[in-house]
Amino acid sequence: MKTIRRILTAATLLAFTGSALADATIKAGPRKGRLLEVEKDKAEFFVEKDRTVSIDFYDNEMKSKPAADHVVTATAEAPSGKVKLEFEKKGDLLVSKAPLPEGEHYTVVVQVKAGADAKPKNFRIKLDLSTCAGCSNPEYACTCDE
Ligand SMILES: [Zn+2]
Repeated sequence: MKTIRRILTAATLLAFTGSALADATIKAGPRKGRLLEVEKDKAEFFVEKDRTVSIDFYDNEMKSKPAADHVVTATAEAPSGKVKLEFEKKGDLLVSKAPLPEGEHYTVVVQVKAGADAKPKNFRIKLDLSTCAGCSNPEYACTCDE
């Protein structure tokens, strides 16, 4: 009886640790972009071929929703200097008005607010545009366990 209880405790502990880790892992959206959790919504950070950044929004059930009152800004911490990107509405997306500065392997800080008066949330994304062989996502949205 004692042994069983001990095994159960270990299993519960493992399950708990497992879910805690899962929360910290990177999630990717339908466009293979990096999924960012913003209050009740999710925003998908995606780098287009022309190096502009587009942000798609989803509700909690991952249903696409138009960009509403969301305010997004991004700062590219490029080796040539920090560049601030502003976003404008294009259809249901928010798209950066300018492309990302040249190069990669620098950090892009994305700030998302659910509304003009909402608390901003910052996400630091390491810009790596090569495709991951494991999950076939861009490396900045790689969901592999490493
Ligand atoms: Zn991967």
